[in-house]
Amino acid sequence: MQSGLTLEIDLDKIRANSARVATKCRAKGIAVIGVTKGFSAMYQIVRAMVAGGIDGLADARMENIVQLRKRDFKNPITLLRIPRLSDIAYVVKYADTSINSEVTVIKALAEAASKMGKVHQIVLMVDLGDLREGVMQENVLSTVRQISRFSGVSLVGLGTNMGCFGGVLPSIDNLGLLVQLGQAVERQSGQPLAILSGGGTSSLLLVENNTMPAGINQLRVGEGILLGTDTTHNRVIPWLYQDAFLLRAEVIEVKDKPSVPVGEIGQDAFGNIPEFEDTGIRKRAILALGRQDVYIEGIFPLDKTLNIMGASSDHTIVDITDSSRSIKVGDQIAFGLSYSGLLSASDSRYIKKVFTGRDSNEN
Ligand SMILES: *Cc1c(COP(=O)(O)O)cnc(C)c1O
Repeated sequence: MQSGLTLEIDLDKIRANSARVATKCRAKGIAVIGVTKGFSAMYQIVRAMVAGGIDGLADARMENIVQLRKRDFKNPITLLRIPRLSDIAYVVKYADTSINSEVTVIKALAEAASKMGKVHQIVLMVDLGDLREGVMQENVLSTVRQISRFSGVSLVGLGTNMGCFGGVLPSIDNLGLLVQLGQAVERQSGQPLAILSGGGTSSLLLVENNTMPAGINQLRVGEGILLGTDTTHNRVIPWLYQDAFLLRAEVIEVKDKPSVPVGEIGQDAFGNIPEFEDTGIRKRAILALGRQDVYIEGIFPLDKTLNIMGASSDHTIVDITDSSRSIKVGDQIAFGLSYSGLLSASDSRYIKKVFTGRDSNEN
């Protein structure tokens, strides 16, 4: 079946974005881990990231990490979500490093690693205000002391996360605090810490502005490399490509219709009561694309004159009245994606993935 619903992925642009991020960070002594969870770790994209020169890989899901190892990626891989106790053996077997904040979990990792004759690397996450994962700063030294009693694990660094839950912006102050905490840990243990991991895409702005506190030596970057955007700062990253991913959906109906439904209004298919403004008769296209396929709020038409009016499970309605192009049944409409759009589209089995670029024919 020819696919009328595709996610086009330009591997050259992913490689170029990876190289630009890696080069800019390396110039400041910062290593870049390529984060693969935004696209379900599709190996073609991971390969483009690696070809761009990133220093390691990271994913939040063990399923993705196991797939990468089966694809023979030998790069260092970090598990970017606190390990599930039920996954411990997998984590030790397939990931080199994991981020952690729970002593119970670290102890289980240590026991599993000892049994396998391995040493698993721990990055202790510190919560500096965003309020997702991490120990509170006043508990860092005592937690480090507890970790030091376990054999089978090695504390390689501290990390923090910004922008994800609380929307807290990375700054000289909060990342400076991470550096100070790192120094306190080094003084307590008498050992150097290899890694101070200062966040993800939202921390790139500090690299660009030259305001990254000295000592931060790793960033974990997904969104910037993939989409060239920084949602936390609500900005486009001007030195990166924004169009490595493109969603194309097919038009299945084009008709002129009133802008206000006719009849008594109940709830729509998702339980919301819709509201409509009367803008007269409009030309509308229905696409064979719906909420079953992608998070509709996470896509935007590339043609700025088009406007998504709404979507149900299998249909998306687009106002095409103002388009300069005459759109007809069978045509395709192209969309850009935000991170949430990309997350959902990557994992949809209804969306065919099409790779373009220099390395797209290898497997
Ligand atoms: C997802 C994630 C990242 C990557 O964030 P981006 O904003 O996509 O760069 C970094 N660190 C952790 C812990 C994550 O979960």
